[in-house]
Amino acid sequence: MPGAASSQCRDIVLVGGGHSHVGVLRRFAQKPLTNARLHLVCRDTHTPYSGMLPGYVAGHYTYDDVHIDLPALAQRAGAYFYQSEVNGLARQAQQVLCDNRPPLHYDRVAINIGSTPQLSGRHADNEHALAVKPIQRFNARWLALLERVQAHAGPLHIAIVGGGAGGVELLLAMQYRLQNERKQRGYSPQTLRFSLFTRGNCLLPTHNRRVQRRFMRVLQSRGVAVHLNAPVSDVDKTGVIVEDTQHHSADEVIWVTRARGASWLENTGLALDAHGFIQVNDTLASLSDTKVFAAGDVATIVNHPREKAGVFAVRQARPLAQNLRRSIANQPLLHYRPQRHWLALISTGDRYAVASRGRLYASAAWLWRWKDAIDRRFMRGTI
Ligand SMILES: Cc1cc2nc3c(=O)[nH]c(=O)nc-3n(C[C@H](O)[C@H](O)[C@H](O)COP(=O)(O)OP(=O)(O)OC[C@H]3O[C@@H](n4cnc5c(N)ncnc54)[C@H](O)[C@@H]3O)c2cc1C
Repeated sequence: MPGAASSQCRDIVLVGGGHSHVGVLRRFAQKPLTNARLHLVCRDTHTPYSGMLPGYVAGHYTYDDVHIDLPALAQRAGAYFYQSEVNGLARQAQQVLCDNRPPLHYDRVAINIGSTPQLSGRHADNEHALAVKPIQRFNARWLALLERVQAHAGPLHIAIVGGGAGGVELLLAMQYRLQNERKQRGYSPQTLRFSLFTRGNCLLPTHNRRVQRRFMRVLQSRGVAVHLNAPVSDVDKTGVIVEDTQHHSADEVIWVTRARGASWLENTGLALDAHGFIQVNDTLASLSDTKVFAAGDVATIVNHPREKAGVFAVRQARPLAQNLRRSIANQPLLHYRPQRHWLALISTGDRYAVASRGRLYASAAWLWRWKDAIDRRFMRGTI
């Protein structure tokens, strides 16, 4: 019976259907576990592939193109799937605590739940700002916005808070899609206004100067009002407030800033970093509990801290699958070192992309086609 402890067969519980666990399930589907039952607990039945999310918003992909069907993937891997939101770990009892079902026993547990948007220091649950995650909430509001733009020709002002790659890419994707919708209906796209607010003094601070300059030029040429050194301190139904004093009106506010670890992790007693992410060693095991593993955005590899990006979550699938297998068999674990530089292909909304890797920079339409081919190949592997 799933969830009950057994002396012969051990239980591995995967919490969250993020990119790492998708890869773990694929590997266990190819080479099934012996003497262990696999369980996947996830809040959502369909999880988005992050690289394609802006393309979905821009209208290049359908919902199904960019979402992974977790129950189907779990079935292929011989795993039990539970749609449930995990809200705690009882580590003494080795149980995963869920919001809508009894606790689930584990011999090993892996956590891959991504990061949680931090809406603003004072207004962590601000109802007027829309965060990209959870994705189902974002998608419902995005579809409502799309419908509104399709039905009316009136002015609309959208503000994006966050000047990292995610914020810039999402803004350009939204602008591309919404302007196209207006044009197709014979309405003027000029009635749509876009603003971007960032606390930093540049855009895409983790990328090289040429990439930063390129995106600044793209945003300016497309009429986006870019506000640098503009930390948003609050959001209300009329717009955003910068540094507690300047009010900027907006009809929709989308929040794509630096995120934190989920708040329930604080009660697990696991070692967390300053942003609430689980600290793990080079084997992806928690610093405080060798039965607990973590990967993707929610994990910080203390010896090799890296930017939070889907590409690392994808790469961690292999070492995580290997070490779960080894750990359950009491074999020595393998050490993993994430790459220092990684290639980011950042889209400009249209079918065009900018490549960024360390100091390297390139931009071309073929880069978008290349990214499209890579992303589609990844998605084919999950079916
Ligand atoms: C607009 C945008 C574009 C981006 N583009 C890129 C890109 O091109 N390339 C790139 O490398 N990165 C990109 N990123 C960053 C990327 O999205 C994240 O780094 C990545 O999604 C992290 O993956 P993950 O596997 O850690 O978690 P996620 O992909 O966030 O998955 C977490 C999963 O856990 C589930 N979950 C969450 N909480 C719970 C819970 N309590 N209980 C059970 N299940 C739970 C969720 O339903 C989800 O299935 C982008 C981000 C944004 C916002």
